[in-house]
Amino acid sequence: MKNRYDVIVVGAGPAGSITAKTAASGGLDVLLIEKRQEIGDPVRCAEGVGKEDLKKHIEPDPRWIAAEVKGSKILAPDGTEIKMSEEASSGKAGYTLERKVFDRALAQQAAMAGAEVMVKTRATGLLRNNGKVTGINAMYMGETHEIKADIVIGADGVESKVGRWGGIDTSLKPGDIDTCAQFLVSNIDAGEYSMFYLGEKYTPGGYVWVFPKGKNTANVGLGLLGSKSGNVRAITLLENFLKNYMPHAKILEMVVGGVPVSGPIKQTVTDGLMLVGDAARQSDPLTGGGIINGMDAGKMAGEVCIKAKEKGDYSVKTLKEYEDKWRATIGKELSKSLVVKNMLLKLTDEQLNQLAHSLKGIDTSKMALPTLLPILFKRNPKILWELRTLFV
Ligand SMILES: Cc1cc2nc3c(=O)[nH]c(=O)nc-3n(C[C@H](O)[C@H](O)[C@H](O)COP(=O)(O)OP(=O)(O)OC[C@H]3O[C@@H](n4cnc5c(N)ncnc54)[C@H](O)[C@@H]3O)c2cc1C
Repeated sequence: MKNRYDVIVVGAGPAGSITAKTAASGGLDVLLIEKRQEIGDPVRCAEGVGKEDLKKHIEPDPRWIAAEVKGSKILAPDGTEIKMSEEASSGKAGYTLERKVFDRALAQQAAMAGAEVMVKTRATGLLRNNGKVTGINAMYMGETHEIKADIVIGADGVESKVGRWGGIDTSLKPGDIDTCAQFLVSNIDAGEYSMFYLGEKYTPGGYVWVFPKGKNTANVGLGLLGSKSGNVRAITLLENFLKNYMPHAKILEMVVGGVPVSGPIKQTVTDGLMLVGDAARQSDPLTGGGIINGMDAGKMAGEVCIKAKEKGDYSVKTLKEYEDKWRATIGKELSKSLVVKNMLLKLTDEQLNQLAHSLKGIDTSKMALPTLLPILFKRNPKILWELRTLFV
């Protein structure tokens, strides 16, 4: 580890590794640090991604694809099913990953592009000069190091501290975070579709997911919105779900973790600092999915690092190009998802059933959610009145 780089990326998740790879591919001197001893482990994810979205960043590799699904099924509280195919979902559904291997493959790509990768290296603070971020304090094997850089990237996930250290408000209110619990279970029929169970009867303000990881194995988990949780624990709801719907399931692994569902936050760059991925609250408020958004944002941030180096200007004026870009793309989608999420939160289980019933006679298997929503709105204007802004 040297004491100076062009770019230091804090956190070797998907967002950090893609940022590091992109910047290193542009000839920048990049350090990617990860506090854990093994990149990708432990996993805190249901590992579902869209095929086409993923292919923009990395060639699919059987080593990190646990299962390929045909599409997704959304289940209303009374069991009414809405089926959507993978192709119709514009590649939004497709693979269940093996993230332990996937995250490592992404970091390997960053290394192959020229980035230096350091594990068991934790950022403990930021170096600053006249308000500008000029590097990090890092702890490696019990020793503190000062490492300077023109740009620091905060890719340190949902519990990000880098943003806060840099004076960026990334705080989340209880209604902005889903508490998730997940079991990797075996001894079930996992099926060939990613399943989403909606309704208060399963979990308040979230949904239950079943993502196949093989014929008899699946990630089964749920999210519980902080503002709706009361005294209920996500893990208790999940145990109830297994007891009622998968009584023979054998639990092989357990995961707990948070997902930011706030929608776009106000600021993600400052002088010498950019935030990407969950650290920038870029996960989708409706689905909780953040892998692809983090990778997309990482690519944008890496490209802006290269431009900033060419200009020799690392001020917010130059770095803001990253913020403008992600807001115009990922940000727009997050804002739409937030409208849908906020509306869904107000619906009773009976209303969710009504929505599902209103699709009777329609072949949804040829549709994606963006096609389905206007139809649902047309057939249920009273229930879905708040969505009208999405269709004008
Ligand atoms: C239960 C659950 C299920 C999910 N399911 C899905 C899903 O199916 N599909 C999907 O797309 N998304 C899913 N997500 C969200 C997804 O996991 C995240 O959006 C994604 O991992 C974000 O990537 P990231 O690179 O921003 O952060 P992370 O993947 O969290 O990586 C951040 C990295 O930074 C490291 N780090 C933190 N602090 C420091 C520090 N101080 N110094 C050095 N390193 C540090 C961490 O150890 C970590 O490796 C799920 C989340 C949860 C909790």
